[in-house]
Amino acid sequence: MKPVAALAALSLLAASPALAQEAAGKTEITWWGHAAFTVKTPKGFVLAIDPWLSNPSDPVKDPAKKLGKVDAVLVTHGHSDHTGDAVAIGQRTHAKLVASYELAQQLAAAGYPKEQAGMETSGNMGGTIPLSDEVSVTIVPAVHSSGYSRDGKSAPVYGGNPVGFVVHVKDGPTIYHTGDTDLFGDMKLVGERWPVDVMLACIGGHFTMDPEGAAAAAALVGAKVVIPMHYGTFPLLKGTPSELERAVTARDGKARVVVMKPGETRAF
Ligand SMILES: [Zn+2]
Repeated sequence: MKPVAALAALSLLAASPALAQEAAGKTEITWWGHAAFTVKTPKGFVLAIDPWLSNPSDPVKDPAKKLGKVDAVLVTHGHSDHTGDAVAIGQRTHAKLVASYELAQQLAAAGYPKEQAGMETSGNMGGTIPLSDEVSVTIVPAVHSSGYSRDGKSAPVYGGNPVGFVVHVKDGPTIYHTGDTDLFGDMKLVGERWPVDVMLACIGGHFTMDPEGAAAAAALVGAKVVIPMHYGTFPLLKGTPSELERAVTARDGKARVVVMKPGETRAF
């Protein structure tokens, strides 16, 4: 690179925090409210997890305005607050679908392009699915249910077992999305096998663990950072981030609680 070009590149980096972050090799996590996250790796691979992007917590309702390129859509279970906009994203992008085999079949029947929802990327608990030379996903248990109703009104059909995901980014963080779940003892094994940098943990209660349960889960996993999710979307989901902070401090205080706003991005 000529000196002038190098200087221009440097000043561009200084002017653009996003570019500077990429240059530093960080992985960006964006929360879209409820259980919906996108993860962008240093090489620019984008995963959308439980992409209910039109959820009530996020003021921007148009999913297409939020996401550009998506390489993989990960869905933990069949409930509509998690399948969300998955089919529409699959139709708009070339994103492969990562889900339990049965849920992938249901979403394909609902319009997710079949060639993007095959067995190459659907799987089951215990399986690690390579998505690129930089990213793989391990499917892990969750204690919940997973019925799927295509229109959100008719009686649900079998959508496989509910799961969580461990996202491995080469030279980057290990991210554990719990899915919807209660606290369970085998979460300890997740942290033992793959030291977790960032845990995305449900805290709302009623359908999932509450802040006390999530604090116990973070301690079991040994997560360095815990980001609360699945709270406040509806009045029934009463758990709050400050309750989680108090519970983590009371327990062992080891996990750092990072509270995000819908649409906010953090780099790890
Ligand atoms: Zn849910």
